[in-house]
Amino acid sequence: MSNFQYLTGVVTLEYDKKSCIGCGMCALVCPHGVFTLEGKKARLTERDRCMECGACMKNCPASAITVTAGEGCVRGVINELLGIEGPCC
Ligand code: SF4
Ligand code: SF4
Repeated sequence: MSNFQYLTGVVTLEYDKKSCIGCGMCALVCPHGVFTLEGKKARLTERDRCMECGACMKNCPASAITVTAGEGCVRGVINELLGIEGPCC
């Protein structure tokens, strides 16, 4: 997991704690450690590290996560592979 962080406060990621059933999938699939599992609920611990890839939303069985997947994902992955750090958008 990288320490990469994008621009602060611009991520479209939203999480509805009431709907969460605590399966842990979001924490498992997120490449940037945005979610952690605390007891029987997920917790958004590193929101500004989200690259909007959409993996958590696609794998959440409770539809507790929404995110607008976009270019930030592709650019972020390419930059990370190239070892380039800094804001992606
Ligand atoms: S994948 Fe959805 S239901 Fe499972 S822990 Fe994460 S937010 Fe909760
Ligand atoms: S959209 Fe991708 S980077 Fe953002 S929290 Fe979900 S899995 Fe992690």
